[in-house]
Amino acid sequence: MTDVVIIGGGPGGYEAALVAKQLGGQVTLVERRGLGGSAVLTDVVPSKTLIAAAEVMTRIRNAEEVGLRLGAGDHQLADSVTVDLGKVNARIRSLAQAQSTDIEERLLGEDIRIVNGTGRLDGAQRVIATTADGEETIGADIVLLATGAHPRELSTAKPDGERIFTWTQIYDLDEVPDHLVIVGSGVTGAEFASAYQALGVQVTLVSSRHQVLPGQDDDAARVIQQVFEDSGMTVINGARAIAAERRGDGVVVRLADGREVVGSHCLMAVGAIPNTAGLGLAEAGVQVTDSGHIVVDRVSRTTARGVYAAGDCTGVNALASVAAMQGRIAMWHTLGDSVAPLDLRTVSANVFTSPEIAVVGCSQTDIDTGVVRGLSMMLPLRGNARAKMQALKDGFVKIFCLPTTGIIVGGVVVAPSASELIHPLSLAVRNKLTVDQLAETFTVYPSLTGSLAEAARRLHGHSSEQVITY
Ligand SMILES: Cc1cc2nc3c(=O)[nH]c(=O)nc-3n(C[C@H](O)[C@H](O)[C@H](O)COP(=O)(O)OP(=O)(O)OC[C@H]3O[C@@H](n4cnc5c(N)ncnc54)[C@H](O)[C@@H]3O)c2cc1C
Repeated sequence: MTDVVIIGGGPGGYEAALVAKQLGGQVTLVERRGLGGSAVLTDVVPSKTLIAAAEVMTRIRNAEEVGLRLGAGDHQLADSVTVDLGKVNARIRSLAQAQSTDIEERLLGEDIRIVNGTGRLDGAQRVIATTADGEETIGADIVLLATGAHPRELSTAKPDGERIFTWTQIYDLDEVPDHLVIVGSGVTGAEFASAYQALGVQVTLVSSRHQVLPGQDDDAARVIQQVFEDSGMTVINGARAIAAERRGDGVVVRLADGREVVGSHCLMAVGAIPNTAGLGLAEAGVQVTDSGHIVVDRVSRTTARGVYAAGDCTGVNALASVAAMQGRIAMWHTLGDSVAPLDLRTVSANVFTSPEIAVVGCSQTDIDTGVVRGLSMMLPLRGNARAKMQALKDGFVKIFCLPTTGIIVGGVVVAPSASELIHPLSLAVRNKLTVDQLAETFTVYPSLTGSLAEAARRLHGHSSEQVITY
């Protein structure tokens, strides 16, 4: 039997543990906090549960647009709904804990040994786990490092968990903040800004770039920036926050240009640092980058024989789905199952703002810069019958395909539930379907997916390489 030792019980680690067990490995998983990792306990599950509450508020706020009122008078539905943040956050914490327990029970049910402690390498074939009872040395034929990452902190903006928060601490809030200043307009900052704004909080979003969501599809980010501004959020673009400190009952965020932003609370969302310090990597021959990420190839091998790595500690693409796939690939590879190397061109990802942004495959930038020689078709949702019925105004679908063959190589959906709507495009990209195949597939009428088929239809027969934007 192959002894597999995994350090870290997030999606990268626990999914790998299940595959290793399925393939006959003897599996030990060392986890210092709780199964499910940051994904379940502090990052994905809590943030998406908060967003689920915000989505309900958004629907209530939009009720009037479709003709709904509370009672007979002029009273607006949204005015009668108040947010009990203590209750929202208690639900979030308990849901995350329950999910963690579910995962733990699943692993124990599969006879996977769980060691509650902090692991580190002692060479490439041994792991030392520091537990409440002392140190345990565990021999390993194969080691998987899946230790994740933690929020980056600025020395001049130390989170105190009372007024200045990281995204892991914000669920301790019991009362709705009067004015939340969010530093960082990447995916995490934008998602929290969208959620808190929907919950009725005054939000100021400080972004160091010209537009929120740098690195995302430019058209999509523009839609979100506009939606944010229309909702009354203050977005300060092109401003670098250099410090955040408590002042009286509130916080003040200082910007590099000398301005100050005053609020009641502050959320710092300025990136993540891989959990790779103190893991004994150098001694074991595991190479890391300057940023501290573990270097891996497309089957998750590190530079040390028998040592694999998966997830945020590798910096490949900080998504739970990618972490899980890297972990599975590592086990398929090492335990002799058939394996295809990780293909980042097929990854679908979502920004859970309102509306959401979902993407798959190549990007508009790839097309515009010629990295991919392709066509692009963008169709606003405002022409879609279902969108009109649902009073959806913002959003679009976009498809990228190769000229001549029409093979779909990517796409973007900006819509409520874009995370669900992207799937036909993900299937198309993964299976190299053509725009004609997508266009010829029935969609329900009326439906938002009808716009995907329509965009595909408009790409039919376009063999030139011009970019088409409708
Ligand atoms: C706010 C937020 C929202 C997000 N939302 C999404 C989303 O909607 N969808 C999505 O796909 N991704 C999302 N992500 C990204 C996602 O959380 C990560 O990509 C994912 O958690 C990575 O999984 P992982 O297994 O690499 O690490 P983690 O989930 O971080 O798990 C690593 C585990 O290793 C443990 N550990 C670390 N060091 C040691 C050690 N030495 N010994 C023992 N245990 C150790 C940690 O305690 C932790 O439990 C979000 C991230 C953030 C910050």
